[in-house]
Amino acid sequence: MALAAHCYDGQSSRMRAARLDCADGFLQLAFEDGQLQQWPLEAVRIRPRLGNTPRLLQLPDGGRVEVADSPELERWFPDGGGRIEGWADWLERRRSAILGSALLVLAATVLFLRHGMPWLAREAAERMPPVVERHVSEQVVALLDRLHFEPSQVPAARRATLEQRFLQLVRGEPRSAQMRIVFVDAARIGANAFALPDGRIFVTDQLLELAGSDDEVLAVLAHEAGHHVHRHGMRSALEQSSVFVIAGLLFGDASGSSLAVSIPVTLLGSGFSRGHEREADAYAFDLLRRHGQSPKAFASMMRRLSAQVPEALEQGPIGYLSTHPPSPERIAAAEQAAVAAGAASP
Ligand SMILES: [Zn+2]
Repeated sequence: MALAAHCYDGQSSRMRAARLDCADGFLQLAFEDGQLQQWPLEAVRIRPRLGNTPRLLQLPDGGRVEVADSPELERWFPDGGGRIEGWADWLERRRSAILGSALLVLAATVLFLRHGMPWLAREAAERMPPVVERHVSEQVVALLDRLHFEPSQVPAARRATLEQRFLQLVRGEPRSAQMRIVFVDAARIGANAFALPDGRIFVTDQLLELAGSDDEVLAVLAHEAGHHVHRHGMRSALEQSSVFVIAGLLFGDASGSSLAVSIPVTLLGSGFSRGHEREADAYAFDLLRRHGQSPKAFASMMRRLSAQVPEALEQGPIGYLSTHPPSPERIAAAEQAAVAAGAASP
């Protein structure tokens, strides 16, 4: 069956009407004036289908043929002008496929955010130079300044003992060379401790006052050491920031500087995920056990902490300080670890 076609010679804009047919591997053009042209099919290129627009054939002499889409063309040019384009067209023609691919993209995005992003963040955090960790930590401290940290009022002797015991505990641990305890008086945030990406571990006088013993303080410090060993600060900041960077790429506002600015703010706002808390807890229990100390001290400190809600945390969302709140699960896990440690020791 011949198809009505419009032909252009490629040199002028003149259009000639013709009938298009195919026989014995040749494409035939029968013009209205009786002229006949023949081209071997393999020498003719067909442009991929694009929605409902006419199909375009490219002739070897530079001429062009425009023809309404037809199943005939499918038979003459089985590969349809390109595999990828053919796929795109196939998808375009099927609503369910469109919906399916939209869902696929959505699922891939969710999967990436949930699994790919944490993986990327960990890889990036592991390659983060210490100078960046220091820089980010400085900015976090500057942001925390409005919480009015004062020099610690706790007797120097107790601080020295704690510091010494802590250093003994983490000796030989990965990244322990960077770890340093900073004692502060912080009435506004109350009993708290937190690790900065550069290895500084802040602990408040209020936590030392609340603790029933230095063992309990040490248990909390072990947990903070876990955050540092696993680079949780940088990892969660990168994970959170990456969402914004991706959003920036998608919506056209991506710059490295916005990442540098967003890291400390993000870190402060979002804090650690539950997964990070669990990981730091597990690290602490193991570290304590390896030094003959019971994770029970961690459970009792958690209980004390759960009884207080610091003023600053009620005032605003400072996730960095508020993700630590003890949960019944964490206390139960510590007690379980203590039982396991007790059973394991002679
Ligand atoms: Zn924590």
